[in-house]
Formats: sequence, C-alpha cells, structure tokens
Amino acid sequence: MATSPLRVSFSAAATALPPVVRDRIRDDLVAGVQRTPLEQPFTTAQFRETLAGAEDNVRRLLGVPEDHAVLFLQGGATAQFTLLPLNLGVGPDGGDYIETGYWARKTLTEASRVTRVHVAASSADHAFDRVPDLATWRVRPEASYLHITSNETADGVAFADTPPHPPGVPLVADMSSDLLTRPIRVSDWGVIYASAQKNIGPAGLTLVLVRRDLLGRAHASVPAPFDYTRQAAAGSRFNTPATFSIHVAARVLEWLVAQGGLAAMQAENRIKSRLVYGAIDDSGGFYRCRTSEAWRSPVNVCFRLDDETLTSRFLGAAEAEGLFDLAGHSRVGGLRASLYNATPLSAASALASFMREFQRRHG
Ligand SMILES: *Cc1c(COP(=O)(O)O)cnc(C)c1O
Repeated sequence: MATSPLRVSFSAAATALPPVVRDRIRDDLVAGVQRTPLEQPFTTAQFRETLAGAEDNVRRLLGVPEDHAVLFLQGGATAQFTLLPLNLGVGPDGGDYIETGYWARKTLTEASRVTRVHVAASSADHAFDRVPDLATWRVRPEASYLHITSNETADGVAFADTPPHPPGVPLVADMSSDLLTRPIRVSDWGVIYASAQKNIGPAGLTLVLVRRDLLGRAHASVPAPFDYTRQAAAGSRFNTPATFSIHVAARVLEWLVAQGGLAAMQAENRIKSRLVYGAIDDSGGFYRCRTSEAWRSPVNVCFRLDDETLTSRFLGAAEAEGLFDLAGHSRVGGLRASLYNATPLSAASALASFMREFQRRHG
C-alpha cells in the first residue's frame, strides 16, 4: 500500500494541529445533537464545561497556582502590547523592557504610545543574536514591570529560564511562541500572555495569566472585554469569547496532557531542534545560524545559506520534498524552521536529511 507523501508546514505564524486532534474536531462537527461547536452559544452549560476543562488543563500543564487568574481573551498578543500597561495602571515611571529582537522592539514601540518605556537592556548592537548579558541589565527598581519576550519568533533567540529581576518589579512576558512547549514556574511571573496560534490552537484566542494582586489597577479607558479584572470576575465571559477557537484549544490541551505534559513536549522539542541545528553545525559553514549557542530557540530555528543566491533554490527543492514554509521572517530574511508542539519528529528528521542532501548537491 502506498503511503501518502510527507507534506509538512514549518510556518512560524499558525498552528499545525496534531492529526488526532484534527480528526477529533471533524468528529465533533458531525456529532452535535442540537448544534456543533461552531454554533455553540457562550451562555450554555456545554460551553462553560468546555471552557472550564480548558482552564483546568492550562492549570495542570503549567502548574498555575490559585493566585493567578487564567483569562481567555481576544485581540492577539499585539493588543496586549498596549493593554498590558493600561491594565497594570502604569504611572509616570512606566515599564522596563529587554529588547531581544523584532517582537520585543514592536512590543515596546506600541507600549510607548500609552506609557513611558525604558529599555533596560538591548542586544540591538549584536543584531539580536542573543539575550543581552544579564550583568548589563539596568532595571529601575521603580519600574511598574519588567517585560521580556521569552522566545523571539523572528530572530530565533530564547530565554532558557526566568531572568533575575529586582524584587517588587513584576515580571511580564510575551510567550506567544513558546508557551506550553516546556515547563515554566508560573509563580515567577506577574503576567504571561500568548496568542494561541503558535502552540495552542487557531487564531482568535489570547491566553493571559495574571497574578491576582495585580488586578484592580486598570485604567478606566480599557474596554471591558480587555480588562483583566472584569474578565477575571466574569470567568472570561464578560462578552462572547472566541468559542470555536476555545473548543479547538481545549482539544489541543487534552492532547498535551495525554502526551505526558510539558516535560515530554520539551524533551521532544529538544530532539527535533537538535536535528536541525545539527545539520547547520555539521555543514562547515554551508548553513549559518547567527544565534549564540546559549540562546538558540528550540522552537524557531533561524538560519541562512552562506551563499544566499541559493535560498530560492533551497525553498523550491524543499517544497518538492513536501517541506513547506521555510522562508525566514520578512524583516529578517534567510530561512526558518518552526518546530512547534504539533510538528512531528519525523518532519524535523526529514528536514535535517533534506538539508544534508541539498548541501551534498550544492556545497
Ligand atoms: C506571533 C507573535 C506575536 C503576534 O501575535 P498576533 O496574534 O498577530 O498579535 C507577538 N509576539 C510574538 C512573540 C509572536 O510570536
């Protein structure tokens, strides 16, 4: 019997769903008695059960303590760039930011529209090939918060652990591309936010974890659907949430639990990324990854060809092998392989073999 040829997307921008979850959603769409999950009113007991199940699994997978609220909002991480300072009720001192790449820069630029922004450290002078040396960070003790981008999706730079910070300055992170890819200590964080469409589910859903002592500070201008305090009080149902995106996310969360949770995901993601980084490091400079080894992202492997005139040939040959969406971020260029939770090990392995073969042909 012929096996279907491999077709896999390494896109950074959207979730690949695990095939079993895709099948489950298809079943869900035909099994509905009165209505399918696409048609589910947010006011029903059935939807409340779905939402409660999703929250339970977020808490279980990440070990979210009771003193953090879990919110299911809309607007994407980009909306949080300005909503976060407004929700934390920042005063004249504003927030501190660590600038590590494209997304951190976008975050602080947007935040500067509504509050004072202080760049406490930046790796711009190293073309964002690392997290700035922790010894150079100048975090102001009076800052309302310290913001980091835990995984720079476009630059391939990632924090391995919680960074040190002055006591009393809540730590805040955009974890859009690495939340749920590894265990973290949620108790270290004041606020964690993430768009769903990298590792959690379809676009339209934004997860926000917020320590409850930071609630009650929102600026009066914050619209109710984006107000952490009002949404925490309403169980994320102040108004209609993204019901179908939440349904799919709930199925992905069940799948993550069944896979053995985040330690299992981290172990698998390490194997996948080592395969691809291995093909780069063994290439003798045919492929180049400029990210410093200590800060390499396990989920977005950014690299380029030493001879960049070969890039379009690389992309075309990869597609012919069923390996899609390997172009780098439009502002960064080069190549990028995004290895999110649902990317199978076989896909990373096929990519690494393809890279070695392409080098044999063109090296
Ligand atoms: C994708 C991404 C975003 C943007 O998410 P939107 O849903 O488009 O707002 C923000 N930050 C990081 C780190 C990302 O990877």
